Amino acid sequence: PIINADGVFQEMQRNAVEYLRLQFTDMFGAMKQLIVHRDEAKAALEGKVLFDGSSVKGYGGVDRSDLALHPDPTSFHVETWHVKATRIASVYCDVRTVDGDRAPGCTRSMLREVISEAKQMGYSYHIGVEGEFFLYPLDEQGVPMPETHDQGGYFDPFPLDRGEEAKLELLQEMRKQGFQLEASHHEVAPGQHEINFRFGEALMIADRWQTFKQLTKQVAMRNGLHATFMPKPMSGHNGNALHCNQSLQQKGGGNAFHDPESRTELSDTALHFVAGLLNHAKGMAAISNPIVNSYKRLLPGYEAPTHITWSGSNRTALIRIPAARGAGTRVEYRPPDPTANPYLLFAIMLKSGLEGIRNREAPPEEAKGDLHVLAEQERSNWAAYPRDLYEALQHMEQDALVRDVMGKEAMQEYVSEKYREYDSYAAEVHDWEMTTYFRSF
Ligand code: GLN
Ligand code: MG
Ligand code: MG
Ligand code: MG
Repeated sequence: PIINADGVFQEMQRNAVEYLRLQFTDMFGAMKQLIVHRDEAKAALEGKVLFDGSSVKGYGGVDRSDLALHPDPTSFHVETWHVKATRIASVYCDVRTVDGDRAPGCTRSMLREVISEAKQMGYSYHIGVEGEFFLYPLDEQGVPMPETHDQGGYFDPFPLDRGEEAKLELLQEMRKQGFQLEASHHEVAPGQHEINFRFGEALMIADRWQTFKQLTKQVAMRNGLHATFMPKPMSGHNGNALHCNQSLQQKGGGNAFHDPESRTELSDTALHFVAGLLNHAKGMAAISNPIVNSYKRLLPGYEAPTHITWSGSNRTALIRIPAARGAGTRVEYRPPDPTANPYLLFAIMLKSGLEGIRNREAPPEEAKGDLHVLAEQERSNWAAYPRDLYEALQHMEQDALVRDVMGKEAMQEYVSEKYREYDSYAAEVHDWEMTTYFRSF
């Protein structure tokens, strides 16, 4: 692995790399980038590249807008997916002020900070993500068409899965980028696909998730397709999730969530971690499910969570503990969707779990049965997950742990931007209202 600027230079030379892509993520999960020529790479790797922070969402106002990009050499990768000959490599950056402090909106640094808190407690944080997306055909003008690319369903092969060729191409590109692939399949909804790559240390997985989304869109496009990670593109069908499988590795090795002595083989640490996640599920909802559309996925009948529950195997629960034990023991957090900022999401999930461990928090009783078919009355035993972005934002504002991780300034900026988004949606008259009310009132 490459650990410093010199290593990056050597790799650039060895691969005849011409350009270096400096990548970072805004507070709302969007990738930003600046491309520099290799002659400028040395200065760039020393953190000498400044940019106008006031033009990137979540990075503050014009009064102190100069921010610096600090490339992380360990995230360096030579891009292999371009058809043209020009060689380009990428590196993920932390964003700092000119004095070297964390820029208030730098979510990658927030994740780093919580990771080092975990290290002090003797843990490293591992995440495995499940990537879901839809494929739509493009017309001759390159505009996505309204019907999905195929009508396939769960685990269907070709010809029901018409995305196979594009998917194989994507898998090959991912391998060349160092992703270890685990599985890929057609998902439940028409035109929906899932790709799982191997879990790893959280910071690396957050970077990889950003690369994965980028790569998926690129490969889809050159196959005449549009890939969308929108949480619920089609009413009446499952949406796109970003399930997060999490575990803590103990310093001396070994999975801290596994305890061969206990009846369920789950350690107390695992249960404390679950309790911590449940305690902050509402407070982090505007982070795990950050757009208006996110909440249309979280309704009964679509294998997505609706209530604050946990369970051994129930796919309607908010947290599921898959059956695997030993090294594979993990906690699957199911609310997040692919529009979440992965750095911020991982930071808050980890912080919540650590708080659960520190306070030796116990989770409530495990939920049994399909929560979606339970009578409303029985369901009321469980607290409901926020029903829309507005409700989620109100919970977020009240969550001290979220504020602690983000800092007051970043949190305020996040919340105000998101209230604006919600208000703009709420002010619109939608098709559904016209169909339902126009003639009857
Ligand atoms: N895609 C579903 C969701 O929205 C889950 C279905 C699954 O992955 N088993 O959460
Ligand atoms: Mg899956
Ligand atoms: Mg899935
Ligand atoms: Mg899953």
